[in-house]
Amino acid sequence: MRDNPSMIPEVLISEVGPRDGLQSVKATMPTADKLHWIDALHAAGLREVEVASFVPARLLPQMADAAEVVRHALSLRGWTVMALVPNRKGAEAALRAGAHKLTLPVSASAAHSLANVRKTPMAMVEEVREVLALRDAIAPKAKVEAGISTAFGCTLQGEVTEDEVVRLAAALAEAGVDDVGLSDTTGMANPAQVRRLFRRLFAEIGDRAGAAHMHNTRGLGLANCLAAYDVGVRTFDSSLGGLGGCPYAPGASGNVVTEDLVFMFEAMGVSTGVDLAGLLAARAPLRQGLPGEPLYGMTPEAGLPKGFAQEALNG
Ligand code: ZN
Repeated sequence: MRDNPSMIPEVLISEVGPRDGLQSVKATMPTADKLHWIDALHAAGLREVEVASFVPARLLPQMADAAEVVRHALSLRGWTVMALVPNRKGAEAALRAGAHKLTLPVSASAAHSLANVRKTPMAMVEEVREVLALRDAIAPKAKVEAGISTAFGCTLQGEVTEDEVVRLAAALAEAGVDDVGLSDTTGMANPAQVRRLFRRLFAEIGDRAGAAHMHNTRGLGLANCLAAYDVGVRTFDSSLGGLGGCPYAPGASGNVVTEDLVFMFEAMGVSTGVDLAGLLAARAPLRQGLPGEPLYGMTPEAGLPKGFAQEALNG
């Protein structure tokens, strides 16, 4: 833990492994193991975590314990507990469980959106409006984020134009969401594109521009995070051990690896508030809960460089 609480981290690392990671692997992590893992993530100093997805258990048995996991995460203090919800029904369950913040995926690709939720992107904006009305009615302090998925390209549709993404972001901001992030769901983004699109996002919706959610499918996850940082993004989604990928595509890696992302920022002198040694330790309960699942990360493989010291930890 940091011993200098007055130092506010310059970037927010939003750990999405318990949601994005676990829902992408075939095995189901037992609830008790999830809770141990979440404890370890909290102990490492993470201050935002996406712990579950509120979807029907018949679609995602890995998330059947979502409410219990949210309640446990809420018992740990000083962090924001997030849940992914695809619709109003999921939002109601997540709000009733007490989640601090909801994230709603809204696909910029019409093809992806129709295939996944049988709705066009603009019909999803209406769903978001309903979620916001529900939030105002039953949990007015909760925040609602929209994450624009397939913002950088789509495996079904191919190219997604920047105009489409910006138009959708404007509609979501107008609907009243607290922030709008951009997700490279399919790992197709490159740094030049990331810079361009986040610049346009800031120009369009100002301080409602939210997180960069990058996947490492083609090895550009960190480069894309750095590109987003360079144009002003300060919240980054990542997953411990790069957990995720796709059970049907062997070797496909998932989200940006939290350990590598934290190492990059800390080595640059950009404080994250996260203790790298604690993060490395958090791999043990993850392994225990998902034996045999490959974990990624260059920093965990190589170890910390000789003499490397985290400002925040020693200051
Ligand atoms: Zn993702």
